[in-house]
Formats: sequence, structure tokens, C-alpha cells
Amino acid sequence: MKLTFYGGAMSVTGANYLLEFKAGGKDLRVLVDCGLFQGSKFVEGLNYAPFGYDASTIDYLFITHSHADHVGRVPKLYKEGFRGKIYVVEPTRNLMLRALPDSWNHIAEEAKSDGHPPLYELGEVDAALDLIETVKYHQSLPLAPGVTATYYNSGHVLGSGIICFEYEEEGERRKIYFTGDLGNSPSLLLPDKEFVEDADYVVIDSAYGSRTHEDKDSRSQIFRQVLEHVVKSKGTMLVPSFAIERTQEILFELHQLFQNESVPMMPVFIDSPLAHKMTEVYNHYQHYLNENARSHFLSEGRSIFDFSCLRFTDAVEQSKSINAVEPPKVIIAGSGMSVGGRILHHERRYLSDPRNAIVFVGYQVEGSLGRKILEGAKEVSIFGEMVPVRCLVKGIGGYSAHADQPALVDWITQANKAGKLKKVFMVQGEENSGKALADIVKNKLKVEAIVPIQDQQFDL
Ligand SMILES: [Zn+2]
Repeated sequence: MKLTFYGGAMSVTGANYLLEFKAGGKDLRVLVDCGLFQGSKFVEGLNYAPFGYDASTIDYLFITHSHADHVGRVPKLYKEGFRGKIYVVEPTRNLMLRALPDSWNHIAEEAKSDGHPPLYELGEVDAALDLIETVKYHQSLPLAPGVTATYYNSGHVLGSGIICFEYEEEGERRKIYFTGDLGNSPSLLLPDKEFVEDADYVVIDSAYGSRTHEDKDSRSQIFRQVLEHVVKSKGTMLVPSFAIERTQEILFELHQLFQNESVPMMPVFIDSPLAHKMTEVYNHYQHYLNENARSHFLSEGRSIFDFSCLRFTDAVEQSKSINAVEPPKVIIAGSGMSVGGRILHHERRYLSDPRNAIVFVGYQVEGSLGRKILEGAKEVSIFGEMVPVRCLVKGIGGYSAHADQPALVDWITQANKAGKLKKVFMVQGEENSGKALADIVKNKLKVEAIVPIQDQQFDL
């Protein structure tokens, strides 16, 4: 089998890997993920570069999960001739049905302002989505004689999966696992990520390969402290949030804090039509949530993402009307890294006042506005206007949906339990994260660890 890294190599984004099997005398060509490159303008330009392969020759596309850096170029794949099957775990399809048209709006808008045609057309989004077939965790899929694929729960977002391909090479059965993003278990909403023990090869996402999260108790504590700050100062709390998972986690957390009367009730706005739609998907797939979250659904008889002071402000007029609501209040809006979306309007309005607060609950990629604010910029440019940053700024790593370094090392250690792990590839991390994780795997686990570069190919 040949594995080629067409994206995700020394980058946090653009996941895209090609596996070429010889099965029953025939070629089988399988892609894992087809994500957008995100971050700076230069990096985003890579999305317009041609794929490193002929899309029409691909038989299957497997998707680890619904985040844009894993699915955002799927319509482009269709545009370039892909007509194979796309496999995802059930809820991922529903999340993609909402995420991809939304992502298209941003891409089309940006292309228009840059004066070039968009990466793909809306019709190609719909056509690509029609190719999706859903599977369940642990369901074994025969792809060709001797080649099967199976999903395991990665505990990262609703429907996210670790993909295992089992195949025959040099007279032996081998297994390669693509972890996608591994979850920061235990999560508020999802079951814990699964472990495996029999890997020959692992391709692991390493966004947090060099870092350790604060523990989960301090995550709730910091969140509560920031809420107390805005209660005391009568300020506004901004939470730039990703529409999938993080928004629902924050809602669950707020719901519990209000219920326990840890903080007084205050208006909470989900100022993102996309996050609203995604929350509906989470409601629909309650049976994919963990026991604790499910028991809340059952005991309350209503959604855990629903409480009396929560408002969804889908329409632009509703969004504007938030300004007139007396603080304290909480505004949750996208995008999660403040690279677009309604959060920018709120940041322009609220960052300069020390009574307010902004809390980052997810990964902030290099070059993003979120990263600049989080790293202590005294002023930032928003819509061409210089805005001083005087509000309270906090980053809460414990909300991250990504496993940290100890958790990644633990997962790899387990994967080698059968003692046959030959190579581990670090992807979807900035160079230093991948290298830090690779060093530990080499030195402690005595397994070959590689941070591949773009287009690098391996015989496995
Ligand atoms: Zn992800």
C-alpha cells in the first residue's frame, strides 16, 4: 500500500491523504479527509491549487469528522471529477449538510471581493453531498478483496471517527489507523474516545502535540470567574465559538451553572444561524451523547441546550438588537478563531471596554485574529478599524475538543499493545507540535515517528 500526504503535513489544516492498495489484482484508491487550508491569506490560497492526484480515479472518500479542515474541499473534489462513495458516521452527514453550504457562502463572498471565481459552486456542494453513505461505529466495510474499513469513536465532535483500514501486504494482514482529531475525553457531551491495540501504522492529528491542557475543574472555574467578572462590572462576555460541539458544550455548561445557581441568570445569545442549526442536529442525535448528557435529556424532558434566558438570533435584525440588551449578557458567535462571522461586529463593539470579557474556548491558528487577541495584542484591526483591547481576555484550553500531549502519547502507547507498531505519522499540527510528539514516540516508545512533508509518499 502506498500512502501520500497531500495536506495536513506540517500544517494544522487541509487534511487530505491518499491510500493506494493492490487488491485482487486491481488498484483501489481511497482518500481520507478533504479539508480546507485555513489561517492566513497565503495558506488559504492553497485551496485553489490543483489536487496532487486525478480526482476521477478515486474510489472512496472516508471522512473522520465534519470540521472544515477535514471536509471543506469535498465539493472541489466533486468538481474535479470524483464520483465515488463518501463514507461518514451517521451524524456527520447531517452536520455536513449544514456546514458545507454555509462554508460556500464565505468562500463565494471572499472570491467575489478578491475578484476570482469561487473554489466551487453551490450546485457542486449539493452533488457532493448526494454521494454520502452513512455507517455506524464498528461496522466493517469491505472495499475490495482483502481490504476493509471500520470506524471507531474518536470522541472529538458528534459523529467523529477513527478510521482503520485492514489490508494484505507482503503476505501479512496489516492495520493502519487514521485518528482524525482525537477528543479531549472525558467530554461534557460525548462518550470517551476509543483505544485500539493492534496498529501497524498510525496517522495521528497533533494540534496539541506539544501542550498540556489545564484540568477540567479549572476550566469550569475560569468560565465561572469570567461570568462573575461581567456580573460584577455589568459587562458583556464574548465567546467566539465553533458551531459544532463547542457551542453545545458551552450551552450545557451555562445551563448547569444557572441551574445550580452558581451564577445569576442572564441573557445568553447564540448569534449564529449555523450554530443554531448544529444544535438541532445534536438534539436529534441524543443517542450519540454520553450517559450523563443523555440523562439530562431524559430527566428534564426538554433539550439540554434549551433554557429560559437563551435566545437564538438568526436574523440580522435580531443580531443587531443584542446591542440594546442591558448587560450582563453572554454572546456566543462564530467564527471560533475570529476570522469572519458575526463575532467580529461584537469584538469591534466590546473589546475596548474593561467591563467586558472575551473567552477563547478552542484552538486559535497562527495568523488568526483570535490568536492575536489571545497572545495579548494591545490593539487589533477589525474591518479596517484599529480597536484597542482593554477587556478581560482568557483562553480556556480545557474546553478544547483536542487531546493534549499526554493523551496523544497514551493513545499511541495503547495502539502498540500488540507490539507491532512500525511507524507513526504526525499530521494536522504546527511543525513544533508534530516534532515534540514525534520525539516522545521515538525516545520513550522506541517507535519510528515521522512528521511528513507535503506530497511525501510511503510504502506501508
Ligand atoms: Zn476537528
